[in-house]
Amino acid sequence: MSNLDRDYCLQLDRQDPLAALREEFDLPAGVIYLDGNSLGARPKAALQRAQQVVQQEWGSDLIKSWNKAGWFDLPSRLGNQLASLIGAAENEVVVTDSTSINLFKAIAAALQIQTKDAQRKTIITERSNFPTDIYMAEGLTRWLDRGYRIVLIDSPEELPQVVNSETALLMLTHVNYRSGYLHDMAAVTALAHHHGALMLWDLAHTAGAVPVDLHAAEADFAVGCTYKYLNGGPGAPAFIWVPQRHQAAFSHPLTGWWGHAAPFAMQPTFEPTAGIRRALCGTQPITSLALVECGLDVFEKTDMQAIRKKSLALSELFIALVESRCGGHPLQLVTPRDPDRRGSQASFTHPHGYAVMQALIERGVIGDYREPAILRFGFTPLYTRFVDVWDAVEVLRDILDSEAYDRHAERHAVT
Ligand SMILES: *Cc1c(COP(=O)(O)O)cnc(C)c1O
Repeated sequence: MSNLDRDYCLQLDRQDPLAALREEFDLPAGVIYLDGNSLGARPKAALQRAQQVVQQEWGSDLIKSWNKAGWFDLPSRLGNQLASLIGAAENEVVVTDSTSINLFKAIAAALQIQTKDAQRKTIITERSNFPTDIYMAEGLTRWLDRGYRIVLIDSPEELPQVVNSETALLMLTHVNYRSGYLHDMAAVTALAHHHGALMLWDLAHTAGAVPVDLHAAEADFAVGCTYKYLNGGPGAPAFIWVPQRHQAAFSHPLTGWWGHAAPFAMQPTFEPTAGIRRALCGTQPITSLALVECGLDVFEKTDMQAIRKKSLALSELFIALVESRCGGHPLQLVTPRDPDRRGSQASFTHPHGYAVMQALIERGVIGDYREPAILRFGFTPLYTRFVDVWDAVEVLRDILDSEAYDRHAERHAVT
């Protein structure tokens, strides 16, 4: 990258095999959107689909749509569509509930499977994990009151020392939401299994951004979001993966009627259905769920290898530009430089991180801020251009050079 200028970035865009996919999204003019890791942009098709669901399926067809429009099958149909992006097989994924709720189900099922071994009393995760993952494990184990302990590690290097014969479950987020650190899924899963522990992966910052092969890694359970890199819409239902080999033993306490073997038999006793739909609880939010399909459809026009290649090229370019063009400023990269250990984002600390991000957003460069002092920029290869990366760094440089930020900026509820 000797000749790193704006023209070079435009040239990269002309050579980009994914360039045309930007047309699938409706992005506001004058905005460089580097926050698709928090809320993916809107696929153009979503507007029409929303209108179809509300007007035709709900408005005109009313209750008939549960059958006629395939509403009832939607969680499994979308799950099958999503499966290929994460190395899952047919009938192993459902799109349903939130990531938090799906974590609860998966943790509960894992602990249930492990009860045959009374000494397995620990759940291991990272202190830097997304808080809800830790909270859900804590909430469930406190409520169970059976002596489970949550062990929080501060570095992946601790894993070989802490995973042992007392470990019931190792629960990690594949790509860290804040630093962008990417775990070696196969190696970590093998470590868990070597000690008889089960392995649960949270793919919130992986699905749609980083290729993953759950079967090749022999993982046990996985959950993830559809409103981040999968562009399913704000608060869109999440997904849960249970491989065929664990489905019969997959038992969780949220035994709602949608997980029943015969929901419309209306029996007074619960009997779980065979297969992945036992991970469902109750009636699904159909309008939200329907829009997830518009996000997934875009992925049918490309493949995860091409997405990964562009994702790394974007983050590599961003890091190189920030370090060369904003060199005199106190910015520190917290994302791994090693591309094999990096997700699809780049995070830098700055002592006035929140204020700098507010100034960026005011000037149309949308990233986000995460405690402590982290400026986070996500790269969505489906709609982010190389020239966007150049322009975003130029705005950042200008803000830092001119100190055009209010260091006492008031915090919004959502940062
Ligand atoms: C975004 C994210 C979540 C969000 O969970 P919700 O239940 O959708 O609020 C959970 N875990 C991780 C690791 C995330 O990145």
